[in-house]
Amino acid sequence: MQNFATSLGNLSGESTLLYQEIARKIEKEKGIKTINFGIGQPDVVTFSKIREAAKQALDQGFTAYTPALGIDDLRQKIAVELSEKYGNIKKEEIAITPGAKTALFVSFLLYINPGDEVILIDPAFYSYSEVIKLLGGKPVYAELRFSESEGFSIDIEKISKLINKKTKMIVLNNPHNPTGMVFRSKEIIKLQEIIKENKIILLSDEIYDHFIYEGEMRSVLQDPDWRDYVIYINGFSKTFSMTGWRLGYIAAKKEIIDKIGILASNIYTCATSFVQKAALEAFNTYDDVKNMIELFRRRRDIMYSELKKIKEFKIYKSPGTFYMFPEVSNILKKWNFDTKSLAIKLIEEAGVITVPGEVFPLNGGKQFLRMSFAIGEDKIKEGINRIKNVIEEVDEKSTH
Ligand code: PMP
Repeated sequence: MQNFATSLGNLSGESTLLYQEIARKIEKEKGIKTINFGIGQPDVVTFSKIREAAKQALDQGFTAYTPALGIDDLRQKIAVELSEKYGNIKKEEIAITPGAKTALFVSFLLYINPGDEVILIDPAFYSYSEVIKLLGGKPVYAELRFSESEGFSIDIEKISKLINKKTKMIVLNNPHNPTGMVFRSKEIIKLQEIIKENKIILLSDEIYDHFIYEGEMRSVLQDPDWRDYVIYINGFSKTFSMTGWRLGYIAAKKEIIDKIGILASNIYTCATSFVQKAALEAFNTYDDVKNMIELFRRRRDIMYSELKKIKEFKIYKSPGTFYMFPEVSNILKKWNFDTKSLAIKLIEEAGVITVPGEVFPLNGGKQFLRMSFAIGEDKIKEGINRIKNVIEEVDEKSTH
């Protein structure tokens, strides 16, 4: 018997991986090549300038610990970049972390006492709720509203009603995983207003901020008063296709960043030294970023027009990220399925991996599938065609 800490409770790992596992089994048993719409990262290798810079840093022996909050040059570079986009932000207001996930973790750690509540927008990136629970906090959920013509919107009224004495934080993720939505500026502004009114923290995860295909995105840092209440999270994983390098960052007022430095020095010491050096070069690769985004835009357009051919699906064309989030309630009703059983059927019968909306983590995803367009155009076409065939076959069988 293992005496694991009670705080672990029934903490779950990334459930998207479970479906990859089932797919591997099916590939072996049936000999079919599966098509993977479950992918949560760009399918391009990190741009060569960054890889070269990492090699150079290693060759120069840049291998020792760095300061807990990161190397000065990189903190400065990020501060300049954010200042150019959003207003005056100083190096002292930046912390470098080993990935955005770690940035999220230390931010939660700073504020959550057992029993505290954190409002999540539902559906939400799976790890928010798990870390909150791990720290003894309680995630509470404000479900997004959906319409096929308008997409997803934040239910500000619902959030207002959820706020009480125990509420410590609200987590915003914009552009949004899993829906692909870029929330409208007026929703962000309203959200900021109620947060200020109630004196709670806004944790804003803007890791997909470069993946925008339509319209403008409003960052929470655009509010000149952001320092009073914002912890801003971003990272290198998505923008520069550096998922495996593990590098993220936080912007917050200096008092918060200093506390993060104390946590960092006790938990992970610092982000990897030569990765930080290489990241300096990332800011010289915006041509590569632009090409990648254009590639993703084409794939998004293809995914949308292919999904439109499945008449049972309701789809809003994602203005951001690299996910599409079709609403599949017609199929669920017809087959008496939930999204988990639908995802499994699609793997078994179409050899296609999707992520059931239910894993994100409550009701908000219950009628949806997440499909990533971070895969090749031919695969997108082939995969959606396979889904369409399975749906038509089932329909045919049931009408004969
Ligand atoms: N936030 C969101 C919304 C994400 O989708 C991801 C990655 N899937 C992360 C954070 C984690 O990013 P990182 O690789 O920097 O830890």
